[in-house]
Amino acid sequence: MRLTILGCSGSLGAPGNPGSSYLITTPGNPGLLMDFGPGALAAMQRVHDPADAHVIFSHLHADHCSDVPSLLVWRRFHPTAPASRRHLMYGPGYAPEHFGRMASDGPSEIDDISDTFDFRPWVSGEPVDIDDVTVVPVPVEHPAVESHALRVTSQTNGAVVAFSGDSGMTPTLVDAARDADIFLCEAAWGPAAENPAPGMHLSGVEAGRIAREAGVKKLVLVHIQPWCDKEATREAAREEFSGDIVIGQAGDTFDL
Ligand SMILES: [Zn+2]
Ligand SMILES: [Zn+2]
Repeated sequence: MRLTILGCSGSLGAPGNPGSSYLITTPGNPGLLMDFGPGALAAMQRVHDPADAHVIFSHLHADHCSDVPSLLVWRRFHPTAPASRRHLMYGPGYAPEHFGRMASDGPSEIDDISDTFDFRPWVSGEPVDIDDVTVVPVPVEHPAVESHALRVTSQTNGAVVAFSGDSGMTPTLVDAARDADIFLCEAAWGPAAENPAPGMHLSGVEAGRIAREAGVKKLVLVHIQPWCDKEATREAAREEFSGDIVIGQAGDTFDL
C-alpha cells in the first residue's frame, strides 16, 4: 500500500501544506482518505480521482474535515467524472448531520449526504474491513469531541500505518501505534518542553516517547502548527526515540 500526505499542517492550513489529510491507496481499489482538512481537495486532484475514495475521520474538528463540502460538490456535480458509486464514510455518529449542516444552504437545513456516502459510525476498538485494509479506531484524549487514533493494516502484507489523530498523552496511543511501520504522530506543541495543555495535543518529545514505547519503525511528525520550529520539534522527539524520524510534508509518499 502507498501512503500519500495530502496535508499535515497543525490546526489550520499553511502555505503549500493543507490541513490534516492522508491518502492510502492499494492496487485495484478506491482510495482511502484519512481526514479531509482545509485544502485537501486541491492536493487530492494532483494524485488521485477525488470521486473515487472512501473517507474515514479521526475526529471532526475543522482542520480535519472542512473540505468535505467541496468534496461533495466534486462527487455530485463534476461534469464528466462524478462519483460512480457510493463510497464508505466512517467517523463519529453525528458526522452526517455535521457535514449536512456544513454543506447546506441555510441555518435550518441539513443536506442529506446519503446519496453519495454510505456512512457507518465508529465503534471504538472494533475493526472494520475496507477493501483490502483493516482499520481499528482506538479512542484517544482530545477535548469535547469523539476522537480516535486510526490503525490501518494491509490484509495483503500486514504493513501498518498508525495515525494518532489529535490527542494528549494517553496509553491508548501506544496500543494504536504498536510495531507500526509508519506512525503519523501529531506534535502540535512543537518543541515545547512543557506541554501547555495536557489532554489536548502532544509535544515533540511526547511523540518520540510514544514511538519508542510502541516500537514503531518510522515516526512521521505531523500536525505541527505553522508557527512552530519543525527542526527543533524533530530534535525534541529525538530525545526519546532513536529510530527514523521524518517531518511530514505535503506530497510525501511512503510505500509499504
Ligand atoms: Zn487538529
Ligand atoms: Zn482536533
